Amino acid sequence: MRTRRNFLASSASLLAAASLPSTLRRADLESAHTTGEPGPAARKQAASPAGYDPWLEVEAAALLANAGEVARIAGGRPVLAVLKNNAYGLGLDRVGPVLDRAPEIAGFAVVKPDEAAALLEAGVRKPILLMGLVRTADGADLARRGVRLAPFDDGAPALLRETARRIGRPVPVHLYIDTGMNRLGMRHDRALPWIEALAGSGDTHIEGWFTAFTEDDDFDAEQLARFRRLAAAARERGLATGSLHAASSHALVHRPDAFLDMVRPGLVLYGAYPVGGGAAALRPAFRLQARVVRVERIQAGDGVSYDRNYVADRPTWIATLPVGHADGYPRRAVEGAAVLIGGRSYPVIGAVSASHTILELGQDRSVEPGDTATLVGPEAEVHPNTLASRAGISVYDVLMHLGAKLPGFVV
Ligand SMILES: *Cc1c(COP(=O)(O)O)cnc(C)c1O
Repeated sequence: MRTRRNFLASSASLLAAASLPSTLRRADLESAHTTGEPGPAARKQAASPAGYDPWLEVEAAALLANAGEVARIAGGRPVLAVLKNNAYGLGLDRVGPVLDRAPEIAGFAVVKPDEAAALLEAGVRKPILLMGLVRTADGADLARRGVRLAPFDDGAPALLRETARRIGRPVPVHLYIDTGMNRLGMRHDRALPWIEALAGSGDTHIEGWFTAFTEDDDFDAEQLARFRRLAAAARERGLATGSLHAASSHALVHRPDAFLDMVRPGLVLYGAYPVGGGAAALRPAFRLQARVVRVERIQAGDGVSYDRNYVADRPTWIATLPVGHADGYPRRAVEGAAVLIGGRSYPVIGAVSASHTILELGQDRSVEPGDTATLVGPEAEVHPNTLASRAGISVYDVLMHLGAKLPGFVV
């Protein structure tokens, strides 16, 4: 029978080939391993603020350093930080106030009206751009509180007329232009009359325009050309475009010609790398943690978890963590991911069930119930990009699927 150990051995070359970002602290891990010193996670003896596991730690210093690195790459241009989907799973109310202090961050972008409201409630003072659909009532309420809207359809002039009437002044907007993504935005090839109508209405204050790339390297160039041509045509007619922005994380590391007036990344601010890596020095800004609830020794031939997906080929110690796919830890972590306890790394075995994950400790007897484990964090073994490549999933899913109800705090 094929054991997890065999599986790991057979996939070792595959893992070695996976590109690891440059700022990983593999040296720390190895020294901890060889000296037997407890690693940072164990020394910290952290605990959940809500009294139960798992929990999230959001590292303010890492968020601030990533903001600085993004601005450096972008040649000092302002950064519009994308905080959609609960700040990519890290928590709007945790991330918003930290990035509000970063001088490089010019403002925030979200996709849902409740996210804009939550950021306002979290006390952020920088401008917020709502890049999605808004109903008239919500739009007026948010615009009154300073949120910038992103008109994208034929109904926008009427909606903005009503919104301007309700708030008693022109509505600040960034026009969403579709250059080929065919998701949201006014199609570039019929945008000009629409822009003229919006600009001429007196109902809007056009602060900027933006577009989103398909991240198909050849087609992105065409999208950028379409965006620039439209802006030139508008300027020829005496229309001011305001600040142009297009670059999300992928373009930030791969397409400097798309930096325009402002960049608009999400993923890299949280410290993960988009597909293809890139020469950036980023640090994952969070840890998914939980404490060991059970340590047990099993015999050769014993199976672990659903389907007995793992069968021990010799006696081994195993540990159970109270965190599973319902908390956002990927089911497919069992295909080769590892978890850190006390600076040592242990393979995930058996199955990631809704609320539990099981680790193979081998002959290592240093792990005890109550020890803190890091399932995702800045170290090499549990880096979001490492987990994504070992589990064969998108790195976006590693962050975005973190449970919205995970207790957490900022360190
Ligand atoms: C999500 C999103 C971004 C940020 O994307 P990343 O790949 O996380 O940097 C930027 N712009 C729009 C319109 C988005 O939806």
